[in-house]
Amino acid sequence: MGRIDDRWLTRCQQRRLTVAMTLQEKRARRAERKASEERMKKSKEEAIEHVKRGTCPVCGEKLYRNLALTGWWVCGSKGADGFRRDGKTSVEKPSCYFQCFTD
Ligand SMILES: [Zn+2]
Repeated sequence: MGRIDDRWLTRCQQRRLTVAMTLQEKRARRAERKASEERMKKSKEEAIEHVKRGTCPVCGEKLYRNLALTGWWVCGSKGADGFRRDGKTSVEKPSCYFQCFTD
């Protein structure tokens, strides 16, 4: 809603303006929440697909469940040398960034 010089509005008009702006904000927040829920749903669906396939979509390494958090899956090549599930070093194969959440 455009900026209105409300010095010239009656109390009733000011009240209506406030209500209208609040409704507009609520609508915007609702739309934002809906978009965010859809993004989450899509990313979860993609994660489930990766887990079903069992391989990392970035480098093809096997995916492993990280038990620290529910539904957390990470690429076997993720992490620092000595902490990677694939047992390789960053010289042998660069560390991968991929991780996803199914829950
Ligand atoms: Zn990977």
